[in-house]
Amino acid sequence: MSRFLNERLSALEAYVPGEQPGDKKYIKLNTNESPYPPPQSVINAVGEKELAELRLYSDPECRVLRTALAEAYGVRRENVFLSNGSDEILNFAFMAYGGRGAVFPDITYGFYSVFAQLYGIQAETVPLKSDFTLDAGAFCGRNSLVVIANPNAPTGLTLSLVEIEKIVSSNPDGIVLIDEAYIDFGAESAYRLIGKYDNLLVVQTFSKSRSLAGARLGFAFADGRIINDLEKIKYSTNPYNINRLTQLAGVAALKEAEYFNKNCKKIAETRGYVKKELEKMNFSVTDSKANFLFAKCPVIGGRELYLRLKERGILIRHFEKERISDYSRITVGSRDEMEEFLRAVREIIGGRV
Ligand code: PMP
Repeated sequence: MSRFLNERLSALEAYVPGEQPGDKKYIKLNTNESPYPPPQSVINAVGEKELAELRLYSDPECRVLRTALAEAYGVRRENVFLSNGSDEILNFAFMAYGGRGAVFPDITYGFYSVFAQLYGIQAETVPLKSDFTLDAGAFCGRNSLVVIANPNAPTGLTLSLVEIEKIVSSNPDGIVLIDEAYIDFGAESAYRLIGKYDNLLVVQTFSKSRSLAGARLGFAFADGRIINDLEKIKYSTNPYNINRLTQLAGVAALKEAEYFNKNCKKIAETRGYVKKELEKMNFSVTDSKANFLFAKCPVIGGRELYLRLKERGILIRHFEKERISDYSRITVGSRDEMEEFLRAVREIIGGRV
């Protein structure tokens, strides 16, 4: 750290993304990417002709993509915002709406507390229950920035739309941000409520269900006035936040609903299979509706399991955090990848059960 960094930032603990080691080829079950490639039409959309156009800036209004997204979800263009990954929207939301503090669960996406620190926001964390479910009542009547991932990460557990609406309607003077990064794998989106509430911000991403993590494309649905706030921040920081290739990839991806629905279904099936297999080995496994499992091994700690799998070329996510340090977050990969994972787990714990 240089001596020039301002004081608030010197104390900041940055978010630590899942590791991406380059020493050898791993089975990557640690960053919740899709095991399936983007469809051929997306690959074609960013072909040579478009690469040659890279001398030009991208469309800051993302007109084509925004219209395509609005049509795909049956909402109006003025209710749609696009971003460089959904992390960017989370960043903007904390920047814009954290003035009266923020509240989120104690166990959730690690970036929320980083953003709160970054902007000097008073953050309150509400403990999840012992089974990691969330008490919706604890998020009612807050009237500050309420942030809930649905499904939650890393537990994969969901809230019903009824519970979400209860939270939104009871916080009329605060923004309720529902982070739906994993929504397509089995939970119900709150985006249909945006016409009803002016304080609801629903955030989604192309990174997971649409196999485009590397393209960095996120989006949000909200009342037009919230979208204008987010646009204002975007035009005050990085107007060309979504590059030309990503805009094209996004438009092409939106035409492939069938391909992506099929992939989500396969991932949900594989998730169910792996959960059962882990339970046969006496793991405790949450009822995840995301593209990952959250599981605790009966005989070895979370850190050890992570290290032993890494030795065997398999990466999972371990969190060095109270309450969950013995749990592992395991991305649901392809069926073959998961068979290898299960084989390795059986070997590792074989002698101990
Ligand atoms: N929200 C949650 C809960 C996540 O796990 C992630 C992925 N790390 C994101 C948002 C951000 O995803 P992206 O920026 O790739 O859209």
